[in-house]
Amino acid sequence: MLVTPAELAERAQRVKLMVFDVDGVLTDGGLYYGPTGEVMKRFDVHDGHGLVMARLVGLPAAVLTARKSEMVEVRGRELKLAAVVQGKKEKGPALEELAQSLGFSPAECAYMGDDTNDLAPLKRAGLAACPADAMPEVRDAVHWVATRTGGHGAARELVELVLRAQGKWDAALEAMGP
Ligand SMILES: [Mg+2]
Repeated sequence: MLVTPAELAERAQRVKLMVFDVDGVLTDGGLYYGPTGEVMKRFDVHDGHGLVMARLVGLPAAVLTARKSEMVEVRGRELKLAAVVQGKKEKGPALEELAQSLGFSPAECAYMGDDTNDLAPLKRAGLAACPADAMPEVRDAVHWVATRTGGHGAARELVELVLRAQGKWDAALEAMGP
């Protein structure tokens, strides 16, 4: 359920870990198949940049996905994510485990998901968010809907929202170097 700007800011201020679904959030949901199976996904450079900015000012990010692919490991390493959790069909308990493994509670997490299997983690997260093109059930369940779509800047928008609420946005810009 969408919240007022004041409540949104409060929730954003409490975020200590940002967790993202992969397909449809960090990608546009497209799965490219070759003769040997899944071969490619398309990630957005602005999203990646946002996750790096957040890490540089002390706000870690992680991904949680029901699918499993080497590309996601590669992208996670590249962005130095705090955790890459794959192959989790039950994403609610998986979010709890992931948060706890990094020393946080789900209430201290922002979670961004786009489909009905994200409803469970969205319910547990202190800040629940989705891309503009998320499924209707998801849009109805979150505190905040990005104006951008999955794989096209939705994650970056959430990063900026959280960093601005925490007063870290200017430091994040500076952290990227002169
Ligand atoms: Mg998804």
